[in-house]
Amino acid sequence: MPTPAAKGDLIVVSAPSGAGKTTLVKRLLRRVGELEFSVSYTTRPPRRGERDGVDYHFITPGRFRRMIRDREFLEWAEVYGHNYGTRKLDLKRILRQGKDVLLDLDTQGAGTVRKRMPGAIAVFILPPAAPDLNRRLRGRGLDSAVSIRQRYARAAGEIRHFPHYDYLIVNDRLDPALRSLEAVILSARCRLSRTRPQARRILGTFRNAKRRSS
Ligand code: ADP
Ligand code: 5GP
Repeated sequence: MPTPAAKGDLIVVSAPSGAGKTTLVKRLLRRVGELEFSVSYTTRPPRRGERDGVDYHFITPGRFRRMIRDREFLEWAEVYGHNYGTRKLDLKRILRQGKDVLLDLDTQGAGTVRKRMPGAIAVFILPPAAPDLNRRLRGRGLDSAVSIRQRYARAAGEIRHFPHYDYLIVNDRLDPALRSLEAVILSARCRLSRTRPQARRILGTFRNAKRRSS
């Protein structure tokens, strides 16, 4: 009997702005196959170098409101004065292909997803300390001074949500942090809930081999 295709996992990554989440996620996607990033919808204007449809779907507040009205979002939240949301259809498409899906969400969005999809795996990324976060936000050089202050001021409030996550990774040096994030994804793929069909299939080959040899 054919084994049903294993269903992918939903992996939520959160961090205070500037902790290095985007950097980690981009590198992770280059290293791990069968993993797709869910591109969110936002009313925030694009930063230098960001591409529509790749980093975000950049949309107008009017279109965002219509998407809320039409119940297109699994979750949405207002973060630093702009709206951000995850479209249900995008997730369905990725999961249907048997891939894991990576979501970059603020702590409100992560809370909603965990309620609605209890199997989701949640990872929190921390900077090594407050001054590092401040330095990274400034060093990125892509946000206005007001936005940087706003993001830094919200960091402690975001970090207080860490107990609601399954995994915590301190992004001190990039490479070890990246390896830890990769380990989370790969170990999730080995959980019995996902590998049971494969184990059954392997067991079946033993039964067949026994029949052939008797
Ligand atoms: P986030 O997506 O969490 O807001 P970014 O990935 O944009 O953060 O990273 C913020 C800045 O910090 C970027 O300039 C990035 O190059 C830098 N950065 C990321 N990780 C590290 C690290 N481990 N050490 C030093 N700088 C880092
Ligand atoms: P940024 O403007 O730095 O790209 O993102 C700001 C914040 O919005 C980050 O905390 C990021 O995780 C969060 N974010 C990005 N996409 C979504 C989304 O679809 N939903 C929610 N709730 N938060 C998001």
